[in-house]
Amino acid sequence: MSVGGENFSLVCGPCSIESDKLLFETGEILKTARIDAFRGGIHKLRTQPDSFQGLGVQILESLGEFKKKFKLPVFSEITDVRHIEMYAPVVDVFQVGSRNMYNYPMLAELGKLKRPVLLKRAFSATIKEWLSAARYIEKEGNENIILCERGIRSFDPELRSTLDLGSVAFLKAETDYPVFVDPSHAAGRRDLVLPLSFAAHAVGADGLLVEYHPRPDEAASDGAQSIDTNQLQILSSRLSRR
Ligand code: PEP
Ligand code: MN
Repeated sequence: MSVGGENFSLVCGPCSIESDKLLFETGEILKTARIDAFRGGIHKLRTQPDSFQGLGVQILESLGEFKKKFKLPVFSEITDVRHIEMYAPVVDVFQVGSRNMYNYPMLAELGKLKRPVLLKRAFSATIKEWLSAARYIEKEGNENIILCERGIRSFDPELRSTLDLGSVAFLKAETDYPVFVDPSHAAGRRDLVLPLSFAAHAVGADGLLVEYHPRPDEAASDGAQSIDTNQLQILSSRLSRR
């Protein structure tokens, strides 16, 4: 998988990896739909302490088998510097979530690696602050960074976040970073994910990070915004890729 330039990438999968069954079932469907890479949370940062927090390290072995079987790169969020070493054998792209964009010691640790980092925008971050966060990674030597717009907090509570596609156009005009968009966490509901995805593609994004679940209504986290298999197929077929 090569990111940026002429390539448009689709990275899809569940908010959180809930079971081996879900993992392997998702792999089959992603392959059939010609999706480029898998996303799935191992440790989740949930707003409520009683919500499902992810399966944690117990899923790492299955994730290794998943990679061998499907040959899909894996994107997963690290929520603690200790995860870097733990996930290193199976996670190809370390995702920094919105809540950790300001975690500079963690960014510096990621900067010491050769592995790509997907840096999400914090929901309250200005573009300048987001770019400064990227520089914390670069300063340590890692220039392999994908920026990911996931919506910001605005005055309007109607959608989960306000997707700032202006930031994508700006970053494409002013910087050399590949820029992804996460329409799922911006929309908060699955019927809006495809329109936002097409808009992101049109504005020049290099890829999408999309929550997909074979049975979204049963998802342990973010089911309301997870697209189903039919939507996944439409997404893949409408966005031309090499
Ligand atoms: C996620 O991608 O599952 C996630 C938690 O996103 P964010 O950090 O943007 O809220
Ligand atoms: Mn989620």
